[in-house]
Amino acid sequence: MDGLLDINGAKNMARFISVCFLLIHMVMTAIFWRCGVMPMAFFNIGSVIFYALSFALIQKELLGLYTDLVYLEVVAHMTCAILLTGWGSDFQVTLVGMSSFAFFAEYLERYLGIRHAHALPLCILGAIAYLSSCAVCTLRPAPYSMPDAVSLFLKLSLGVIVFAVSTAVLQAFVREATKSEKALTSRLMHDKLTGLPNRYYVADYLGKLAKSGNLNKYWVALADIDDFKKVNDTYGHNCGDFVLESIANLLQESLGNAQVCRWGGEEFLAVGLIGNDMESQIELLDRARQTVEKQSLWYEEHRVGVTITLGVSPYEEGYTTTEWINAADEKLYEGKKSGKNQVVM
Ligand code: GH3
Ligand code: MG
Ligand code: MG
Repeated sequence: MDGLLDINGAKNMARFISVCFLLIHMVMTAIFWRCGVMPMAFFNIGSVIFYALSFALIQKELLGLYTDLVYLEVVAHMTCAILLTGWGSDFQVTLVGMSSFAFFAEYLERYLGIRHAHALPLCILGAIAYLSSCAVCTLRPAPYSMPDAVSLFLKLSLGVIVFAVSTAVLQAFVREATKSEKALTSRLMHDKLTGLPNRYYVADYLGKLAKSGNLNKYWVALADIDDFKKVNDTYGHNCGDFVLESIANLLQESLGNAQVCRWGGEEFLAVGLIGNDMESQIELLDRARQTVEKQSLWYEEHRVGVTITLGVSPYEEGYTTTEWINAADEKLYEGKKSGKNQVVM
């Protein structure tokens, strides 16, 4: 489906994250080494190895596991950094920033139908790490300290990284969710066979017209293919589908600015502006009827001739949309009873 990232897009996103985290940990290794915080220097070497190996997980499309492990690596890493260098080093901001990453990853993975991360337990773990390291740091001094300039550099860098990652992730989430919603809505509102808008669309469309208070300027027409069952019975269902598509195109072309929709089965609904007078609109609808009648539809060497009957109803004060369409349906019924292939108002 159009809309959300596919598995390759998600893999590329994960690769990008791994490259960024790999580089960050290389820089952190050097910084901790220079400052003599050796446990963290070694931890960072481990993290570099972890992110190098993470490409294998991505390659195998184990993105749920990848998300879980990245999250756990960040929690373990940052908790150690806080406990060793103190609350003032600000490593805890990363624990807060990781929530958006975990939830977006879970959302994408669920959408892709692969084993997904469990963002909520991960975030609870992150919160526990945050709160307990806060308590420990308050109760005892940190065993290591770093020069003020390095500490400031780390704080600023972490701040930038956390804001950048959270913003990018939330932006991507909004973009992907909106794209997906639009694609789903468009699919919901259109008929697959003819590509025309469907009943749901009509309901929305008439609702908007009603809100604007302009319904009295419009007519609706229900067009039904005559003896369509015979087409199916004689030439097969595929031929019936072909005829439906062709009639949909013909109606759209010949009804100009009117909104044509597939109402269901072999019925189409058109909504048009009355304009100067209703007579000219009836002429327009009758020309559409004649176009269908004269059209030669060829299906596998068979000439399939079809006609349509139309029931028309200009809006009358007080109509609900259902009553309005029913009024057109009654006219259609009259047309069917009195010989078909005509426009009745
Ligand atoms: P009338 O002139 O009274 O409208 O007769 P009719 O045969 O057109 O009407 P009827 O309601 O008896 O039959 C409609 C047929 O339309 C039956 C159904 O199988 C067929 N139909 C409905 N939707 C589709 C579709 O999507 N594709 C095809 N091929 N046939 C469809
Ligand atoms: Mg019908
Ligand atoms: Mg019919």
